[in-house]
Amino acid sequence: MKLILIGIQGAGKSTQGNLLSEKLGIPYLSTGHIFRELAREKTSLGRYIKEVMNAGYLISDEKTLQIVTEYLHRPEYENGYILDGFPRTIAQAEAFKNGIDKVVYLKVSDREALWRLSYRDDNNRQDETLTAIRKRIEQFNLLTKPVLDYYRKIGKLVEVNGESSIEEVFQSILEGIGKGG
Ligand code: AMP
Repeated sequence: MKLILIGIQGAGKSTQGNLLSEKLGIPYLSTGHIFRELAREKTSLGRYIKEVMNAGYLISDEKTLQIVTEYLHRPEYENGYILDGFPRTIAQAEAFKNGIDKVVYLKVSDREALWRLSYRDDNNRQDETLTAIRKRIEQFNLLTKPVLDYYRKIGKLVEVNGESSIEEVFQSILEGIGKGG
C-alpha cells in the first residue's frame, strides 16, 4: 500500500506515520526528515536547503521531485510506503505518478498546531522558530490546500479530524483507508 500523509506542522503526521508503519508493515519516510539530513551537508545543495527550510519556505519543486524520486527507487520502498510531507504543491502532485492508494489529510486548525508546537519538547530544531512556523502555515494554505482538492477530485482523499486523541485519529485513518475493524 502506498499512502501519503498531509497536514500542517504539528498535525501529528510523524506520530501517525510511525503507528501506521508498524500496523501495516511498510516503511515510513518524511521529506522534512530527508531535507533536514541534507541540510547538514556542507555542500551547495545542503546550504541551499538549510536556508530555505529555516525561513519556512518550500524547496523548489524540481529539486524536491528529484530527491523524492531517487529515494522511492530504493528496494525497501518497492512494496509500499507511508510518505509524509510530499507532495506539497500542485506541480509536485501532477509530476508524481506512483500509484498512490490513499492520501490522508490530518486536519487541525492553525491555532491548535501553533499551541502544540509551542509545547513540543524537541524544540532543538533550527527550523522551528515562530516566524518559520507561521510562514509554513501560510505556505500550506496557499500551496498545499490545492493539492487536497486535486486528490479529492480523483477520489483518493481521506480527511481525518486530527484534533482528537492519538488513538482516535489512528482508528479514523485505518477506517478511511479500508483497514479498520
Ligand atoms: P516538514 O518537516 O514536513 O514540516 O518539512 C520541513 C521543511 O522541509 C519544509 O518547511 C520545507 O522547507 C521542506 N520540505 C519538506 N517537504 C517538502 C516538499 N514536498 N516540497 C518542498 N519543500 C519541502
